[in-house]
Amino acid sequence: MKTREGTRPSPQRQDAARDTVVASDVHHEARRGLAGVSRRFAVTLAAARMIAWEWEPATDRFAVTGPAAELFGLPPDAARTGAARAARLVHAEDSERYRAALEHAARGGNYRLELRIGRPRDGALVWIEERARAVRNCATGRERVVGVTWDITERKRAEEARRRSEERYRALFDAIDQGFCVIEVLFDGHDRACDYRFLEVNRAFEQQSGLTDAVGKRMRSLAPEHEEHWFRIYGEVALTGEARRFEAPASAVGRWFDVYAMRVEAPEARRVAILFKDITARKRGELNAQLLSALEADFARLSGPHEILKLAATKIAHHLGVARVSLAQIDPAGETLTVLEEHCAPGMPSGLGERRIADYLGEEYVSRLRAGRLVALDDVAADPHAQAAAYRARHIASALYAPYLSARGWEFVLAIQRREPHAWRADEIELVDELCTRVWLRLERARAEAALRESEARFRTLANGLPILVWVSDNAGHLDFANQAYLEFFDIDPAAAGGFDWREVVHPDDREAYTGAFVRAQASGGKLYARARLRRADGQWRWLESRGHPRLDLAGRVTGFIGCSTDITEIWESQRALEEADRRKDEFLATLAHELRNPLAPVRQAAAIAKARNATEAQVRWSHDVIERQVQHMSLLLDDLLDISRITQGKLTLRKERVEVRAVIDAAIEGARPFLEARQHRLAVNAGPAGLSLEADPLRLAQVFTNLLTNAAKYTDAGGDIRVTVRCEQDIAVIRVSDNGIGIPAHALPRMFQMFAQVQSPLERTGDGLGIGLALSKGLVELHRGSIAVHSAGAGQGSTFTVRLPGARITPAPDADRAPVPARVPRAPRRRVLIVDDNRDAADTLAALIELDGHEVRTAHDGYEALKLGASFRPDCMLLDIGMPGLNGYEVARRLRQAEWGRDVTLVATTGWGQREDRERALAHGFDHHLTKPIDPDALHELIEPPAAD
Ligand code: ADP
Repeated sequence: MKTREGTRPSPQRQDAARDTVVASDVHHEARRGLAGVSRRFAVTLAAARMIAWEWEPATDRFAVTGPAAELFGLPPDAARTGAARAARLVHAEDSERYRAALEHAARGGNYRLELRIGRPRDGALVWIEERARAVRNCATGRERVVGVTWDITERKRAEEARRRSEERYRALFDAIDQGFCVIEVLFDGHDRACDYRFLEVNRAFEQQSGLTDAVGKRMRSLAPEHEEHWFRIYGEVALTGEARRFEAPASAVGRWFDVYAMRVEAPEARRVAILFKDITARKRGELNAQLLSALEADFARLSGPHEILKLAATKIAHHLGVARVSLAQIDPAGETLTVLEEHCAPGMPSGLGERRIADYLGEEYVSRLRAGRLVALDDVAADPHAQAAAYRARHIASALYAPYLSARGWEFVLAIQRREPHAWRADEIELVDELCTRVWLRLERARAEAALRESEARFRTLANGLPILVWVSDNAGHLDFANQAYLEFFDIDPAAAGGFDWREVVHPDDREAYTGAFVRAQASGGKLYARARLRRADGQWRWLESRGHPRLDLAGRVTGFIGCSTDITEIWESQRALEEADRRKDEFLATLAHELRNPLAPVRQAAAIAKARNATEAQVRWSHDVIERQVQHMSLLLDDLLDISRITQGKLTLRKERVEVRAVIDAAIEGARPFLEARQHRLAVNAGPAGLSLEADPLRLAQVFTNLLTNAAKYTDAGGDIRVTVRCEQDIAVIRVSDNGIGIPAHALPRMFQMFAQVQSPLERTGDGLGIGLALSKGLVELHRGSIAVHSAGAGQGSTFTVRLPGARITPAPDADRAPVPARVPRAPRRRVLIVDDNRDAADTLAALIELDGHEVRTAHDGYEALKLGASFRPDCMLLDIGMPGLNGYEVARRLRQAEWGRDVTLVATTGWGQREDRERALAHGFDHHLTKPIDPDALHELIEPPAAD
């Protein structure tokens, strides 16, 4: 552009100026002929926002056509402005270039320039393009430069904007750390994406994708194994224009990618821009975490230690894609391992069982494992600390060992092995380490659970086998466990045991004490002990003794009890019975002392009277009677005692014979007569059918009824009625002794036949006796295979004792030969009797007793004297004590039988020892008879003078 200053039109004349600014020296003809053309030209220029100009360098004359004022804000006189002046408008940075171009044109050259000018009107910076060339004026012959200038500010701005955006795009493209590329998807004839070509990639592409020099290359040529899904997805994006975001593995490069793909440019270009990120590490982490949580879920489902290990081995092997996974326990010395479970890929040899660690690993590695650190062998063949040959034999080229250490030391190892060398990655090492701990802890728990289950089963088996009630309860008393015996005792359905409330079956009287014991033990955390009656399923109250130990939680709080209850009803009752027996025994001893002392007083007094010088003959006789009665009474007591002891020891034997019941009753009445008469009772006897006989010991049977009659006499007030009746019921003789005496209260009835049973307390008792009479009677009756029973309507209502004896028979005619049951009737003999006893008093009183019957008596006080005296005295009968100093009774008997005078002597042993063995021993030593001290005078009478043959 060339303008002159001052050519700028006034605002009113702007339009005209735009059209008519004309150089004054334009050729005259041309001006005329071209006037129309010029006008149209000016309009065209204005429309194109362009000016045309002409400059004559020699004169610096300048002419402009076009909207110079509007475009460049030039004044109306701009046409008169020289080039130098116009150049001043040019931007400082462009002015040099402009000057050079003008000079070049002035010398006849052409130029084309883009430059900036400062628009004088508003100071705005305007981009213009200017093209010019030199032209020679044929008429003047002067050089001119003609050119056009137009405003390119808009274009420049657009260009700038594009450049900037391009720059930004590039910067962004290269700045993002994610991989970015633009691909062209290639389709086969069926519109199926079969490959793609990289058109553009960013800087991070290589690092993210693992592909180098990708631009211009096809994916299939870079990674022939690349998965189909990649081509398919990109093809879809290219065809549909729908952007896709996805994660997928690319095993050809061993990576996982997070991808965003979108179509760019025109659909037919089939270009796809891909933003992607290598997420392999995160993905591995996720997959590892998935494996861990899947294993946890499996572990929760399984309970057997071996199934847990087996599953872990298999899952780990698949996850890591390794040939073998083994789980092994380390021995306490840390030298051998026992493979508990393993997973082997096909073709891998099994390594189950025990093996020495040193056969595979050098000390360096073993101590590292002992310290709890992992050992990773990338290539066993190249590892100086690995026994390569051993590994080769097992087809192993790389291995990873993760140890587990407990407080006890190295316990466990998880071994991962591959057939090929492998650089173990950090994530693999971390995973295996974590797995090892988890598997071991689970194994330990499974073992503990198994042990617990076993001990639980043992407990249940044991508890269910026990005959006592075993239970486990919580604090509220609900049953957590009840053994078989418990369930049966209360008849509870096993499923309903938890809802069983034992408090409801405790006896109301014991409930408070029993539940109180639980509450107290709970509060103190101590042991539980309680006794109570509980109702058994059959409705019976049973005494249960319960013992419990508190169950404590970790904080030491009582959470319930584990205990057992024993049915002690029988023990309880027998304890009561024992206490009762003990009480009776004490009473008996007191009674016995009393009963034995009682007769002694009159004996002593009678003896004193008899000894007195001034005693009359009647007094002496009376004394003797008293003494005899008392001695006889004491003898009876002692006889009873000895009998009862024989019965309880099973040593009493019966001398059975067929005996008439009537005779037995007669003898019994005879025996009881003194008591009956003393109290003036009336006795009625119905002796039953004549000839009723029994196979029995007459003496013992008479003893039974004497006893019953004596009791009837004793426990009936004077002048009472006593009745004896005999009946025969089939082959049973039924003999009843009844009275109208003091009777027996109902509570005492069950114990009447027990030893030492006496209804009245010792002080209340009027009669004498030891409380063994009925027990003895019962024993004797039972020896005869019979029974005895008592009936009384109560105190004051009298009593009836009924004896039943089997084997009764009614013999048609009384047996005349049979001797009657003996009665104590003295006879009158005359014999020579020698008494030998080292106790002088005993010898002398016995002598006096025998002399009373008119016999001739001598006494000796030891064995020698006896033999000597016997030889001269020639006794018919000798009463010989056994226990003597010097020669004892047996020895005397032996020698005596050897002497001519002693051969026919009736030899009678008199001794305190009354047992059957003593008797047999005496007979064996040559004695004819055996009498127990104190000697029964009647028996003595019979011996000294046996029943006469007459
Ligand atoms: P004892 O008569 O020596 O005391 P028993 O064994 O003969 O011993 O009798 C035991 C108890 O039975 C007596 O102490 C008495 O209380 C009671 N008894 C026995 N027979 C009768 C009876 N016929 N009437 C009332 N009570 C009797």
